[in-house]
This record gives sequence, structure tokens and C-alpha cells, in this order.
Amino acid sequence: DSAVDPRDFLRIDEGLTGEESDIRDAVREYARVELQPHVANWYETATLPARDLAKGFGRLGVLGMHLQGYGCAGTSSVAYGIACRELEAVDSGLRSFVSVQGSLAMYAIHRWGSEQQREQWLPKLAAGEALGCFGLTEPDAGSDPASMRTRARRDGSDWVLDGTKMWITNGTVADVAVVWARTEEGIRGFVVPTDTPGFTANEVKHKLSLRASLTAELVLDGVRLPADAAFPEVRGLRGPLSCLNEARFGIVFGVVGAARTCYETALEYTISREQFGRPLAGYQLTQRKLADLLVEVNRAGLVALQLGRLKDAGTLHHSQVSLGKLANVRAALEVARTARSMLGANGISLEYPVMRHMANLETVLTYEGTEEMHALSLGQAVTGISAFRS
Ligand code: FAD
Repeated sequence: DSAVDPRDFLRIDEGLTGEESDIRDAVREYARVELQPHVANWYETATLPARDLAKGFGRLGVLGMHLQGYGCAGTSSVAYGIACRELEAVDSGLRSFVSVQGSLAMYAIHRWGSEQQREQWLPKLAAGEALGCFGLTEPDAGSDPASMRTRARRDGSDWVLDGTKMWITNGTVADVAVVWARTEEGIRGFVVPTDTPGFTANEVKHKLSLRASLTAELVLDGVRLPADAAFPEVRGLRGPLSCLNEARFGIVFGVVGAARTCYETALEYTISREQFGRPLAGYQLTQRKLADLLVEVNRAGLVALQLGRLKDAGTLHHSQVSLGKLANVRAALEVARTARSMLGANGISLEYPVMRHMANLETVLTYEGTEEMHALSLGQAVTGISAFRS
């Protein structure tokens, strides 16, 4: 039936502005030509040409694209979300690359940095000439970042940082790390050039998920920084949490792309493969699965677009982002698992994108607030009672 487009069944993208659909087309085309042909190899070998990718993304204009000024494109939040969706349709690791650079490192500097920090770093980060990372998580502080041990102490007017950060995306290739540390005045953020003596980044190996993404342990051993390395005003977890909220927003859109790829792959596969003398897609059990995938992809797409419109209106609440992150990542993971079964043995192969997406989504379920943390956040929003702590 030509009246329905299996790729955009509810015609959600008709709600995009002209600029937003132009950005979608540009990112989709870039992904098709520059990313898609290489992603399985990057995943298999757990490597990423990070410098080249950054320059390519910089030229495409997606690094910090929803920020204003300092060489950033200043697009709508929806446009940023759609770019995330088209990148994550290829691989969650590639969307993570853009999220960490734009929503974590750049947003932190843009929102909380001094004028001098912004001018020094944002234009280079937007162009992809420099890479950034964001160090909040530690080996013993994940969901509960308030328990962090990394410490920044004053020595004269300098700051001296000691501690370990864990699971830091792009940590091994970053030129600048935004590091959150405990001080006498509460948690503060620091802009740390990674060539500062005492800073080392060690690659996290043996990952079975998000393999087309570089992950690091950061070791800060007496890292001495000038007084103006700290973000001037923000104190406490408000700083890092504001950045995570930005990155989660990108995830809400991004995982719709991953789910869409899994659905489309299952659709094409079951139409073309025959068993018992008929296409797999001709069996009722298969059609039930296809219908379930279609429902989830479209429902997630609507959730994302609604959050995007609220964000552009300036009224988006962080608990609404929690709803989107929880709902959409869960849906995408379910879509990936079902699609995996529909491809039979081929479903477990890297020759097809489905199991790669499925494995990636396990990371996406965990990072930027686990599924459980977002459930607790929603519970708190509707009851007024925090169940986080004893
Ligand atoms: P834990 O907090 O130990 O949680 C383990 C389990 O216990 C989870 O299921 C959790 O939901 C549950 N749990 C914890 N507390 C409660 C509670 N009160 N009630 C009920 N259940 C609870 N971090 C960064 O700072 N920067 C990055 O760039 C970054 N990139 C990452 C990339 C990858 C590939 C991965 C895997 C992680 C990355 N992270 C990054 C870290 C990520 O944000 C953390 O893994 C996440 O916050 C969860 O922390 P944790 O792994 O310590 O799990």
C-alpha cells in the first residue's frame, strides 16, 4: 500500500521544519557514505579513527550543533535529536561520540565555563579539531556520583587533582577532559588539558558492547592546574547532572534510529527469505513480530519528538527526559532482541547490524542513568517521595 511508508509509518517526520528535515537528510547521507561501510569493522576490531571522525562530524556541523555561538550551529533541539537518530541508526557508539563531545564536554563548557574557557575550547571542539571527554563516573561511584573520591585541593592559587575516573568515552583521544571533583566547597568541574603532567588515560578493553567507541580509565595523579581551570560558579551535582540531562535527550532520539534499523533489517530479511515454501514474512507469527516492532519504533519516535518540542519551548523537565530515556531505550532493546530472533542464525552475525545494535543497547540502558535510576526518578516525580537513598 503506497499510502503508508514502512520507514515512517506515522509520518512523524512531517512534523519537522524544513531545516530539521534538511539536517536529517544531510546526516543520513553522511552516515550512509562515511560511516556505514566501516562500522562493522570498527566494531569487530574495537577501533575508531577518532581524529578523522571528529573532523568529518565537525564539517557536517553536528558537534555541539544545538549550542549558540563559538562556532556552533545553533540549531533547534529537535534537529540535534534527529541527527542523533540518524547516527545511532548506524551505531550507538557513533552517536555516543557526538553526544560526549557536544552534550557533555561542550555543553559543560558552554553552560558553566568562563568566557575565556569558552573561547579557548568551543570553536576547536565544534570544528572537530579538538576532542573532549567528560569524567564523572569512578570505579566506586556510578549511579551515586555524590560518593566520588576524586579530590581537588588548593595549593596556593593552583588546584591539584587526584583520583580515578572510569568508563570515560573518548578518554584516550581527548585533548581536554571536563573532570568533576570534590572540593572544600562541594563538587566542582575542572577543564583539564590532557597533556597536563600527572594525567593518564588507559583504554578499557574486553568490552562486548559499544565496541565502536573508545572507553578509558582516567588517572589523575597530582594534576596541577591554574586557579582559572575550575568552572567559576557552579557547585554540587547540579553541574554534572545538567550535562547528563542534555546527553540523555540525545539518547531518547538516538535509540529510535537503532530500533528502526533493526526493524527494517527484520522486515527486508523476512520478506526475502523463504522457509517451508513461503517467505518468512508470510507467517502470522512473523507478522505479529513485525507489527510489534513497528509499534515500538513509532511510539518511541513520537515520545522523542514531543520531548524535543518541549525542549525547544524551554519547558522540558528532567523527569520527562527520564521518561523518554527509560521508555525508548527499553523499547529499542526489545525491538533489537525480537529482530535478532527473526534473522535466525544470521541474527547473531556481524554481517547484519542487529546483534551489534542489541549489544550496544545494553550499554545505552546503563549509561546516562540506569533504567532503575530513571524509574526511581519518575517515582519521585509522581509521588514526591525519594526512594534513592536510605
Ligand atoms: P552501579 O551504580 O553500580 O549500578 C549497578 C546496578 O545497581 C544497576 O542496575 C543500577 O541501576 C542498580 N542500582 C544502583 N543504585 C540503586 C538503587 N538506589 N536502587 C536500585 N537499584 C540501584 N561515565 C562518565 O562519567 N563519562 C562517560 O563518558 C561514560 N561513558 C560510558 C561508556 C560506556 C561504554 C559505559 C558502559 C559506561 C559509561 N559511563 C560513563 C559510566 C556510566 O554512566 C555508569 O556505568 C552508570 O552511571 C552506572 O554506574 P555503575 O556502572 O557504577 O553501576
